[in-house]
Formats: sequence, C-alpha cells, structure tokens
Amino acid sequence: MRNMAGQVAEYHCPGCGYVYDESLGDDHEGYPPGMPFAELPDDFVCPACSVRYKEDFVSAKPA
Ligand SMILES: [Zn+2]
Repeated sequence: MRNMAGQVAEYHCPGCGYVYDESLGDDHEGYPPGMPFAELPDDFVCPACSVRYKEDFVSAKPA
C-alpha cells in the first residue's frame, strides 16, 4: 500500500518475509495504524524473526 503522499509505505524483512505496512501498523507489537516506519523506535526488531533490525528492512518496490 501507499501512504497519503503516494509513497510506498511497506517495509519488508529480508530474513523472513514479514512486512510492516504503515497503513496497518502492527497491533500485536503496539504500533497503531498509520505509524510511519521512520518513527518506530531505533531498537525495533523484526517481530517475526527477532533477528533482523530496523535498518535491515527494505522498502517495497512499486509494482
Ligand atoms: Zn524477520
């Protein structure tokens, strides 16, 4: 999905395929819908594999 600025707002974990979608946030991790990836805490780790860190995530390419 894309955010209101029309930018890609999905970030993929290169290790396990987890996707953080800014429009959805991650309720399970306590991040509300609309939470920008850039505003996640610096110690954010992949909630699925807990191995990959925030800086490892890659933004989704436009389809
Ligand atoms: Zn992962």
